Amino acid sequence: KKIIIAIDGHSSTGKSTVAKQLAKALGYIYVDTGAMYRAVTLYAMRKCFINDSHFNQEAIERYLPFINIKFKLNKKTGIAEVLLNNENVENEIRKLSVSNNVSQIAAISLVRQKLVQQQKLMGAERGIVMDGRDIGTVVFPDAELKIFMTATAKDRAERRYKEITERGEQVSYEDVLKNVVNRDHIDSTRKDSPLRKADDAITIDNSNMTLDEQFQKILELAKQ
Ligand code: C5P
Repeated sequence: KKIIIAIDGHSSTGKSTVAKQLAKALGYIYVDTGAMYRAVTLYAMRKCFINDSHFNQEAIERYLPFINIKFKLNKKTGIAEVLLNNENVENEIRKLSVSNNVSQIAAISLVRQKLVQQQKLMGAERGIVMDGRDIGTVVFPDAELKIFMTATAKDRAERRYKEITERGEQVSYEDVLKNVVNRDHIDSTRKDSPLRKADDAITIDNSNMTLDEQFQKILELAKQ
């Protein structure tokens, strides 16, 4: 029987890496909901609705109907890449500048409503692994398996730093650490915070776990 696997947790805990691997092993669809919030953020940045000193929430809300987010499977890599109004923005949305603005965009309830509605539809036939912050609590409260991933901020910043510099972007480790801590703070302290462990979620602290250990553990749980 096909199930829904919800993977939530802090930023840079490697949720997407393990989620992708699981989806592949189970023949399920993988959906990265962070990519959807990042794509909306990129749109807002391009329109100058948000930058370091300025945030025009009203404009973002007004333009929401014109923001179309879709996924397209890259047959070579097996990864679903995100399309913003039909443009592949998979690489651009991973930049630190987008990471620095995304939590503010994700705090807009109209943005969340739009994306959550779309996410619910994607899971209508089950057989899906979805990662994010609110998947087990808001998007699929009835998911058969809920995982909450966590790791120390230092471990997470190190992983993120490696990922960003490997792509050739010039950043300092300190800035990455600041971003990781900051995003968690914004994501978890708002009154309608998206980052909350579901009561029935299983916590995995992967600070000292290899990718394969995480994968095996979740796969085992999925088969129960
Ligand atoms: O998963 P990722 O780190 O790419 O997500 C980027 C940001 O998008 C998060 O820091 C959070 O602000 C927001 N997000 C969210 N709800 C989700 C997924 C991501 O608010 N389900």
